[in-house]
Amino acid sequence: MLSFNSTPSLDHTDLPGDILECILDNFVNDRRTLASCTLVCRSLLHPSRSRLFRSVFRKSRGGENAGTILFELQVHPFPELVRTLELSAFGQHLCTRHVLPAILMHLPNLDELKLWGLETRCSCDGASREPEQLPRGLFQLRKLELHHLAHRTPDAFLDFLGLFSEIDTLSINCDAILIHLPIRGAAGVQDPSVFTDGTGLDQLCIRSANIRGSTAATTSCLLFHILLVTPSAQSLRTLHATFDCAADLLACTALLPHCPNLRHVDFGQWLTFDQKDYHLWDRLSLRECGSLEECTVATTLCAFSILFTEAIESKLQQNMAIINVLSRLPPSVRHVTIIFNETDPDMGTLRDCYDWKQLCDMLEPLCSQLRTLTLKISDIYDSESRFAQLKEFVEGKTASLRGKACVRIMEQAERQWWYAM
Ligand SMILES: [Zn+2]
Repeated sequence: MLSFNSTPSLDHTDLPGDILECILDNFVNDRRTLASCTLVCRSLLHPSRSRLFRSVFRKSRGGENAGTILFELQVHPFPELVRTLELSAFGQHLCTRHVLPAILMHLPNLDELKLWGLETRCSCDGASREPEQLPRGLFQLRKLELHHLAHRTPDAFLDFLGLFSEIDTLSINCDAILIHLPIRGAAGVQDPSVFTDGTGLDQLCIRSANIRGSTAATTSCLLFHILLVTPSAQSLRTLHATFDCAADLLACTALLPHCPNLRHVDFGQWLTFDQKDYHLWDRLSLRECGSLEECTVATTLCAFSILFTEAIESKLQQNMAIINVLSRLPPSVRHVTIIFNETDPDMGTLRDCYDWKQLCDMLEPLCSQLRTLTLKISDIYDSESRFAQLKEFVEGKTASLRGKACVRIMEQAERQWWYAM
């Protein structure tokens, strides 16, 4: 019989640190519990407190000046514990010249900044205090996420980016440039010196860019400026690019040969890609990207009509995205992923919207340079039994590729990155 003294000790200090961390991770969204944990004992204090203050999220109360956030941070008890800052709907009221740098100054260990609905310009009274040198290359981030942002000009965006010297991953999810310059894309690439003077962005290095463009076709203009005005063309290793406009795609691909360390390009699933712009795919060139090892290409999320009269057109459209990219790969590529979409309740999209023979004919010679060829199936109708059937179908259609490369057929489980953001 257990006496009181022989009761096994439940002292938390007996728990290995990593187990304690795992337990506390379950409460990251439960502030009350975390707050209680800070009061239990000394060994729980720091890990629970760091989780309690790790993220700061603020949504504008409507027309609110972001200066109030600055005030809140000035009285914040542990600004050094803040790792993620998310600001939403401040629009033009978050001055990127004066207020945002001051906010960042207060958060010395920030590594993730998410801004929703930012408009890059100065709208505070800071302008009257000019002239003042804007801080350049002061901050480093693991992740900078920008959703639905607007700029008066591309230069306004660069001005904002100039605050940073290192960004591991830059994500832009829909953008607009208010004073729209024509896309300087491919033409501008030929003379990058035009853009490299006097920007003060000679420090910024971006390693990975996730770009999801808008139909306004201004995203490639931003990417273009980022890569040619900063040393990021040298540092860029991964690019996930999804465009709703062929002009954007074309300008983007013209940039790729200027990125000598690019290893992985992912042409994501585009949503409303204008079908009549398909001829622009023909001008896409990846041959010059001699360091590229990995390429992902997806077909459209939208089900093309599979009416009898349009079935052939549909096959052409779906195959064209795949063929145009994959037939232009440099010999350095070793891993290819193709994402197919099944959007029909009767599983008709795979059957009717892809020309499997044409795809296999194109893939067979490519297989000799590949280590892996991954065929992913993205299915709107989420169910395990369906996937088994879909897999069997694709296996049958691609049987001629077996033995030529390591062909894997998988479910596209993860959502494309812009949904995940
Ligand atoms: Zn300002």
